Amino acid sequence: MTRILVVGSLVMDLAFDVPAVPGPGEVILATAFGRYRGGKGYNQAVAAARMGAEVVMVGAVGDDDFGRAFLTALDAEGVDASRVVVLDGVATAVAVPLVTPDGDVGFVQYQGANRQLDAAVAADLPDCDALLLQGEIQAPVSLAAARAVRSRGGRVVLNPAPVHDISDELATTATVITPNEVEAAALLGRDAADLDGEAAARALVTDQRAAVVTLGARGAAWADGSRSGAVAPPGVEAIDATAAGDSFNAALAIALAEGQGYADALRFATAAGAHATTIRGAEPALPTRADVEALLDAAGSD
Ligand code: ADP
Repeated sequence: MTRILVVGSLVMDLAFDVPAVPGPGEVILATAFGRYRGGKGYNQAVAAARMGAEVVMVGAVGDDDFGRAFLTALDAEGVDASRVVVLDGVATAVAVPLVTPDGDVGFVQYQGANRQLDAAVAADLPDCDALLLQGEIQAPVSLAAARAVRSRGGRVVLNPAPVHDISDELATTATVITPNEVEAAALLGRDAADLDGEAAARALVTDQRAAVVTLGARGAAWADGSRSGAVAPPGVEAIDATAAGDSFNAALAIALAEGQGYADALRFATAAGAHATTIRGAEPALPTRADVEALLDAAGSD
């Protein structure tokens, strides 16, 4: 069984639909409320488990109801949560999306336990076929984990999202970096509007690292030392792109860990991302292996 290790974030979303964002001293009545488990680390761990990998998650929650909800959910999904540390006196990370009628989302975010995860967790990581990292915990923790895995010859898939805290050192330590178009433009110091996906992937390649740039409905482009290419996703009726990137990254890590080349791995990963766009929300949209294979079969028989 493919062993995936995720070192990353767990964030409880408290989402409000509001007629307008409140000003100082103003009370706004929300028209809808929902509580959803998320965080890129959590989403990618659950997606990898649903796609059949043996998954260990390393992260931090607070000793509170939200933290307990995460541990229960990871367990139910078959993710090994024994390395998710429960921190006393620290809150589980919370995000409060405020969704206004025009569809804009404003966020309040409290990083809580995610920020307190200590680099010491990298000292005794379990063996894995691929390590998945994102940008929602402190970069030195991700760097320590990436170095530990690479020193044992393991693969490191770095999803630089959000991109602002990704250090050059961390980006250099990855086996493959997987920005979306906006993140690729930021990494390259270019304007996202002028970006060609495959050229951007080629520009992000180094001696030690391949690059994959996700392109939303257009799929994804890849480049390694000498080759590059692009893959379109299977056609789907997309209704909500939340967690498309997380599904894509988990699938890519699994496919690479299984020994697939980039072109095949991207076919698998773009199908996983496409599936996620057909279901509203994050956690409900994370695909199983059967979901991905059904889309690949349908695309193959076109
Ligand atoms: P992020 O969510 O990180 O911004 P993208 O929007 O690039 O990432 O989406 C990740 C992947 O999900 C894409 O590479 C693609 O495979 C798939 N995807 C996203 N949007 C669509 C869509 N509208 N139709 C089909 N596939 C999509």
